[in-house]
Amino acid sequence: MLLVLLLVVLAIVLTAFFQKSRLKQYDETFFAMDTIISIRFSASDRAPMEECRSLVEELENLFSRTDHDSEISRLNREGTARITELSEDTVKLIRQSFDISRNTGGAFDCTLGQFTQLWDFTAQTPQIPAPQSLTEAKKHTGYENLQINENQMTLLSGVQLDLGGIAKGYAADKVKQLLCDQGIQDGLISLGGNVYAMGTNASKPWKIGISDPENTQDTIGYVLLSECSAVTSGDYQRYFELDGKKYHHILDPDTGIPVENELSSVTVLDGNSAKADGYSTALFVMGLEKGMQFAEDHELSAVFVTKDNRIYTVGKTAQTFTLTSDRYEYQPQN
Ligand code: AMP
Ligand code: MG
Repeated sequence: MLLVLLLVVLAIVLTAFFQKSRLKQYDETFFAMDTIISIRFSASDRAPMEECRSLVEELENLFSRTDHDSEISRLNREGTARITELSEDTVKLIRQSFDISRNTGGAFDCTLGQFTQLWDFTAQTPQIPAPQSLTEAKKHTGYENLQINENQMTLLSGVQLDLGGIAKGYAADKVKQLLCDQGIQDGLISLGGNVYAMGTNASKPWKIGISDPENTQDTIGYVLLSECSAVTSGDYQRYFELDGKKYHHILDPDTGIPVENELSSVTVLDGNSAKADGYSTALFVMGLEKGMQFAEDHELSAVFVTKDNRIYTVGKTAQTFTLTSDRYEYQPQN
């Protein structure tokens, strides 16, 4: 009996081994959702790559604020839509965005479209919006103006959705699910500052570098991840400089002006990439002290990097973060 059991176990182990050894690595990099996307996975053929790419493009077509034909643009234009007229993904993402907006007291606010449309961070000659345009836009922001009930979504007071602070995380979750559904275990999905680490890399956790905000070619350190996402919000990801001042894309929901505090980046680790994405933006807006307290109170794992080159961690990040740069100071938690 014992021998039979042993043989069965051996057969299972050998089958798994041979199946894994037949896998090949596939990777591809492309541009979508306003960022560089790279997808890597181990599989028996390349076919899932095309599906991942189409999926990201489909999601972009739903969520883009600037594409006139997207579902979000239509909702912004018409101010209301029946749930049944919207795709399941749009409804899910708006619901999740609303929840994070509410949980963070509006530090993350998915209704800042009237503010964000006043800024163009990639323009040849970027401009700072006039104070009166910001004051006027402020009247048309605020997540409490997003009403969701069983049948209908409504934008009151002319608020406009901007899901740019969470959509890439949502896309990472969807790509991961697509690969999982195809039986793929190991892979790395990266959409700009959003990374999802599936399974392992050569049987070890993935080593995910955290960018040095002062020199984005370098990293300050890394986290070890498996079945987890790491999402970074930083003042270096999309910005312009004018008269020696930096204007970046994370806006203070009270003023519509880029957040100015002691932080240069926040990375959040979570199994749900949309959640990590929404909260990384929110923690950045809150600033170091309030952000760390919020992360602790809400059991979030995060790495905070300050403009004066200090690093702080909250939650399980303390166990997985390793400092590699000698230009930064890090005092691990006890
Ligand atoms: P992230 O890189 O995830 O931090 O998101 C930044 C993007 O989210 C910006 O490019 C805007 O589209 C949008 N955004 C800016 N400020 C906020 C905010 N306070 N709350 C929610 N979304 C924001
Ligand atoms: Mg975000």
